[in-house]
Amino acid sequence: MKYIDEFRDGQLAQKLAADIRREARSDRAYGLMEFCGGHTHAIFRYGVQGLLPDNINMIHGPGCPVCVLPIGRVDSAIELAYRPNVILCTYGDMLRVPGSNRVSLLKAKAGGADVRMIYSSADALKIAQENPDKQVVFFAIGFETTTPPTAVAILQAATMDLANFSVFSNHVLTPAAISAIMGSGEARVDGVVGPAHVSTVIGSRPYELFAEQYHMPVVIAGFEPLDVMQAILMLVRQLNEGRAEVENEFSRAVTRDGNLKAQAMVAEVFELRKTFEWRGLGWVPDSGLQIREKYVAYDAEKRFELPYQSVADHPACECSAIIRGVKKPLDCKVFGTVCTPDNPIGSCMVSSEGACAAYYTYGRYKESR
Ligand code: SF4
Repeated sequence: MKYIDEFRDGQLAQKLAADIRREARSDRAYGLMEFCGGHTHAIFRYGVQGLLPDNINMIHGPGCPVCVLPIGRVDSAIELAYRPNVILCTYGDMLRVPGSNRVSLLKAKAGGADVRMIYSSADALKIAQENPDKQVVFFAIGFETTTPPTAVAILQAATMDLANFSVFSNHVLTPAAISAIMGSGEARVDGVVGPAHVSTVIGSRPYELFAEQYHMPVVIAGFEPLDVMQAILMLVRQLNEGRAEVENEFSRAVTRDGNLKAQAMVAEVFELRKTFEWRGLGWVPDSGLQIREKYVAYDAEKRFELPYQSVADHPACECSAIIRGVKKPLDCKVFGTVCTPDNPIGSCMVSSEGACAAYYTYGRYKESR
């Protein structure tokens, strides 16, 4: 298949659904976690869950970097934005995530902080060049997909000797988070639909150790509905046969070794943090990246001596349990009433890839009520 429409073909979807129904054994249940919010949205947008037999339960995982960033980190960014002479730049979704007392970067902007929405790390560099009398901080978030562009921005800033640019790094690592979820044993997960974009960078190799350690099949899948359904079929087959291998449904974009050039750039600029706090998962060892000493001049945490304090989620919000795969958005009492995309209480309703946003946006929750 070469064109996008072919990955959304209704007849092929029906055929795949029939194959899944035929191969899924009626005497067992299948708990399959999609780690990426992109998969969650494909499942809801195209009604994939409705095509599956009842004994296949899709479990929504950590979803996206916006969802997993803890309140303490949002607070640090807000505190930074309020400092005199600072321009804080970040991606659109981050602006609306509530920090402590439901203050967001958007509210900070309304309160006078200079907060700018950008589309790429290059935008932040440009703003720094245009405002030499200000300190421009890029509030960087993301899994392995968005880390290479941040590394490029730091390398370019170093080449240009740009003294007024720095990065507040919140880049996190996917395999560490999957291991944390599996290691806790809280969620009943039998197999994993592996990330798409992340895997284009890191390849499929990093999941091999993890599949072996937890005897957990992983199928890396693209974000189109037929990709997800094919991955589900491949996982069902592996589980029926007692296999726990890493398979690659997304071979049109993912190789075993990934993008070596991007990996080299990331390794040049970043190193592992000993530990990093995630919303829902708590402190996870070796799960985040910090800027290397060589590029310390571009590290906002060092330049501004940013303090960090853990902050508990809003008591009504179930984001943490959703991220761990223990609950679903409809288990949250404030879903769709107090908490909506226009008035989010937690990060899972804000992010364009969040599980709560997927349930709300595509209205599937109405069918199951
Ligand atoms: S509905 Fe809102 S408050 Fe509830 S878990 Fe989702 S984001 Fe959190």
